[in-house]
Amino acid sequence: MSKERSKVYARKAWYIEGVRMADECIFCRIVAGEIPADIAYQDEDFLAFRDIMPKAPTHVLIIPRIHITSVAELTDGQQKLAGRLIVIARNLAKKEGIARKGYRLVINCGPEGGQVVPHLHLHLLGGRQMDARLG
Ligand code: 5GP
Ligand code: ZN
Repeated sequence: MSKERSKVYARKAWYIEGVRMADECIFCRIVAGEIPADIAYQDEDFLAFRDIMPKAPTHVLIIPRIHITSVAELTDGQQKLAGRLIVIARNLAKKEGIARKGYRLVINCGPEGGQVVPHLHLHLLGGRQMDARLG
């Protein structure tokens, strides 16, 4: 990808009912290039960046550029988008060298699900043995 093109991606900002999400949502601010992130992958519709407080040697967050609050807000028409999150994670796992030993994909949804940032994201965790407990 050319540098020029990745800049264009980074400048995209999303509005919902007139509210600029980059003013409200930290991950939208990352999408808009307003706060820095260590980008692991990007394309026109998705961004993947390293978690600021990594819970494993590899901890990447994969997000859609559009603001979707959580899995609970996904529409039936966004099934392709949801699938792409997993395929991007699979590709990144290979790129990060964790595919052979294995990795964990996590999506927290809502307060009791442990979701803190209200912008849909898939955690890719790897590089160490994961705890068998999921709670
Ligand atoms: P959640 O608990 O919502 O599923 O996960 C949110 C994740 O986002 C956490 O692992 C947290 O460390 C990460 N995070 C929060 N703020 C930032 C930030 O500004 N930059 C990056 N790179 N990660 C962040
Ligand atoms: Zn957002």
